[in-house]
Amino acid sequence: MTGPVVVLDGVTRTYPGGVSAVRGISLTIEHGEMAAIVGPSGSGKSTMLNLIGTLDRPTSGSVRIDGHDVASLTDRRVSALRAQRIGFVFQSFHLAPGQSATDNVADGLLYSGEPLRERRRRATAALERVGLGDRVSHLPHELSGGERQRVAIARAVVGEPPLLLADEPTGNLDSASGASVMALLRGLHAAGTTVLVITHDRDIALGLPRQVSMRDGEVTA
Ligand code: ADP
Repeated sequence: MTGPVVVLDGVTRTYPGGVSAVRGISLTIEHGEMAAIVGPSGSGKSTMLNLIGTLDRPTSGSVRIDGHDVASLTDRRVSALRAQRIGFVFQSFHLAPGQSATDNVADGLLYSGEPLRERRRRATAALERVGLGDRVSHLPHELSGGERQRVAIARAVVGEPPLLLADEPTGNLDSASGASVMALLRGLHAAGTTVLVITHDRDIALGLPRQVSMRDGEVTA
């Protein structure tokens, strides 16, 4: 696949009540890029995450993900697009508490329809890729914050989606764990994954190859 992974064209999102959280943004993210969407609180980052992650639809303008125009798809097909083409990483990890690291990662392949044994095999391989080959049977509460985020990253990439979308991925981590999570994301990018990090932290953004700066719902640089 060679076309862009994300194309926003004149995207506006106005919430009921009249707040325009995103105003006329055009943005292209190519395959293999790594970029930060950075801006202060209230600048529209979460709204962008929801639009790019196909969790919300624009009020006007178009959103294309890996060549698919989100507006032309039914809700059901948008869900399939999201499951197959976007890996999500959240600030608070969102792991299932009673499940081993392997089974949390295997959940990232639920859409694939593969049998559990095969999903577990791939999950173990993904955990090895993120440096957790010796933690595959641990439950989330038996892992450090940085390790939990690594499990969440393994879950996000186990299906090899064209886009990895990380929302404040180091927001709940101490600085050493945060640095190692960022190093892991940079390593995935070096191996070919397209990575988009949403952050309020300028220093994190400046550590990435490209910064998309937002203010008051607009891209400023
Ligand atoms: P950020 O993630 O950068 O903090 P947001 O995208 O959450 O920014 O918010 C951008 C603006 O849109 C803010 O002024 C916020 O108050 C407003 N906003 C966000 N979500 C909603 C909503 N569901 N309804 C109304 N206004 C919203």
